Amino acid sequence: GICVIGSLNMDLVVRVKEIPKKGETVIGKDFSTVPGGKGANQAVAASRLGAKTFMIGKVGDDSFAKNLKESLSSSNVDIKGLQEEKNLPTGVALISVDEHGGNSIIVAPGANFEMRKEDIDKNMSLIEDSKIVVLQHEIPIETVSYALAAAKSKGKITVLNPAPADEVSLEALKGLDFIIPNEHELETLCKQKITDEKSMIEGAKSLIEKGVKNVIITLGEKGCLHVTASESINYDAFKVVAVDTTAAGDSFIGGFCANYLKTGDIKAAIVFGQKTAALSVTKYGAQSSIPTIEEFEEFWR
Ligand code: ADP
Repeated sequence: GICVIGSLNMDLVVRVKEIPKKGETVIGKDFSTVPGGKGANQAVAASRLGAKTFMIGKVGDDSFAKNLKESLSSSNVDIKGLQEEKNLPTGVALISVDEHGGNSIIVAPGANFEMRKEDIDKNMSLIEDSKIVVLQHEIPIETVSYALAAAKSKGKITVLNPAPADEVSLEALKGLDFIIPNEHELETLCKQKITDEKSMIEGAKSLIEKGVKNVIITLGEKGCLHVTASESINYDAFKVVAVDTTAAGDSFIGGFCANYLKTGDIKAAIVFGQKTAALSVTKYGAQSSIPTIEEFEEFWR
């Protein structure tokens, strides 16, 4: 199976005509609470797309936690690796979305930022029972490095989505099977401006020199670029009518991992991930936009 280690957030979303400036109050349109958090989104995507999936993470002891757990469970994600922390708030994201789909987001990480090495140790059996282990950057960076090292030492296939953008340790990069950044995250990782494909490949190669086997840079509606020591291959995105790109990256990662687990074929898994992500941008919200394998097969028939 797949073990996702990461964040869970309740997304509190208001649609507005224009995002308010400092000191300004605006009246919004509809309000919705949508389960999110990069970790939880990726777990839901992997599970809905057919993989046995475990999630390791932390929530508080409040009603958001209850809803987030229900959302994972109803997508068949195994949540025995989720810990409820008394006296801590569950992570929330305050999101405003304007008329053009532009957004502004404040994340209050709450319990997510209390994920420690001990929490990884406690759940080591879930890592052992999985073939692929997936991490992102919405839990403390030391915990990310520790979990990656643990997974690598047990011979697991490791995947890091370095989002939100942050630097990573050399230790985390060494022997990493897949790193999946967007352009902005790649800039932060390799501390250089990415202006064109040439600089993108150079940036990716600098990560490969540090021990990463595959770099997959996602490029929104332009698709993605897969770079290894020996080649770089462009993949066009699938054309769809985009409504909301929230969780496009998470859908890509979940779909990619689910298909890679099944086929062991990187090219096929990239195409599958892109089809999953394209479908997700045709719907609003984070977990609400991630397709099931049935919806996927129906759409791409
Ligand atoms: P992130 O949201 O993490 O920045 P991207 O925007 O790069 O991620 O999107 C991830 C993947 O989602 C892309 O590689 C692409 O396959 C798909 N995608 C994103 N936006 C679109 C779009 N407008 N149309 C079709 N596919 C899209």
